[in-house]
Amino acid sequence: MFFLLSLCMCGLLLRGDAQDRAALWRGNDRSGRCQYTFTVPSPVEASCPQTGGPEVEGLKARLSLLEVLVSQLSGGDTGGHQGARARAQSELQEALNRVMGERNLLQGEKERLEGELEGLQRRMEEMRRETERLRNRPCPPQTPAVPPSLPLQGSALMRPAGDSAWQHGSPGFQELKAEVTEVPAPDGSEDNTGCGELVSVGEPVTHRKADNIEGKYGVWMQDPEAVSPYGPNMFWRIDTIGSDVRKLFGYEDMEQLSKGFPSKVLLLPEQVESTGATLYRGSLYFQRRRSRTLIRYDLASESIAARRDLPHAGFHGQFPYSWGGYTDIDLAVDEQGLWAVYSTVKVRGAIVISQLDPYSLEVKKSWETNIRKNSVANSFIICGKLYTVASYTAPDTVINYMYDTETSQGKAMAIPFKNKHRYNSMIDYNLAQRKLFAWDNFHMVSYDLRLGRQQAN
Ligand code: CA
Repeated sequence: MFFLLSLCMCGLLLRGDAQDRAALWRGNDRSGRCQYTFTVPSPVEASCPQTGGPEVEGLKARLSLLEVLVSQLSGGDTGGHQGARARAQSELQEALNRVMGERNLLQGEKERLEGELEGLQRRMEEMRRETERLRNRPCPPQTPAVPPSLPLQGSALMRPAGDSAWQHGSPGFQELKAEVTEVPAPDGSEDNTGCGELVSVGEPVTHRKADNIEGKYGVWMQDPEAVSPYGPNMFWRIDTIGSDVRKLFGYEDMEQLSKGFPSKVLLLPEQVESTGATLYRGSLYFQRRRSRTLIRYDLASESIAARRDLPHAGFHGQFPYSWGGYTDIDLAVDEQGLWAVYSTVKVRGAIVISQLDPYSLEVKKSWETNIRKNSVANSFIICGKLYTVASYTAPDTVINYMYDTETSQGKAMAIPFKNKHRYNSMIDYNLAQRKLFAWDNFHMVSYDLRLGRQQAN
């Protein structure tokens, strides 16, 4: 019994000793809840390793590293080195975007050229079949090629009626024999204030080269009757390569155009087709892409003032000039107002000239010529007379034909004309300066003109 009592006392004494060295705390934690902490010393270790040992130091180092990384990612560090890296990255991105943009443009141009190639192959096949058909046709009885009563115009000329194979399959197109046509020799009868026939065209003067691929083809213009807020010295330009041609650049004068510093950039509400646009009385006139719709865009209010379909006009590669480029509808301005040069299915590709109401775009009067539109490179109108250019690539070509709307008569001619840069995509009469404006393979060029004296009626 005594032994058992002694054992219990020892146990209580030992327990009491342990309680002396243990500790219990009670307090609130951060969220306010009651928290108990019970601490018992280790019966084995005499002391703990130093507080804040290698593990804590390692954690601190990793934390600092993470802070630096977070700072870099959030752009907080604008130090010289980081800034330079960011700038280099942004420049690289910009260059990449530019290259991608140009690649897309070239891709679009490639597709367009492939489309044109297909069209040309189709036309060649049609012509081959036509030739075959004519070969198999029995010869008609021989008749004199030129009736004695048929007067020759100039010294040479078009094939007389009945002489040509064209008669069998086409609506009597004239074959342009420009090389044998004589031009009236200048005899001191030029009068640049009048409206006589074109006598000669001067050397091309280059004013500006386009900055990138978008400007391989284009149109540049001057309003002969400029309207406020734009002055009469203003020049305008549209680069026409690309799938979304809408930008109209305005330049204060020729010097600014030559330097490439536009003072105004307008974003047109509709896409422009090809190089046939023109300016007149404060409005830009252009053909809406993939349509026969003509649009009058008012420069002052920067909005569309009129839109109207050009009746029956071919568009988007149906009746282009010989270089293609969707040049189906060519607009022009001269002393007599606004004109459209185009073709229709009814006249099977011959050039039709229509005088338009510049306010409403309605057709006032039309003339049908017998010149095949895709046989000429371009055309321009001076004093109601349409002139056509034979080639868009030959450095030395000719203005090979003239049609006078006043007399409804046409004739072949051969006035020398130079395609200095060998790919002329636009030629127009500029009434403000009485010059020709052209867009020749990235280059904006102009030509002086000489007109003959107007013939008295
Ligand atoms: Ca033209």
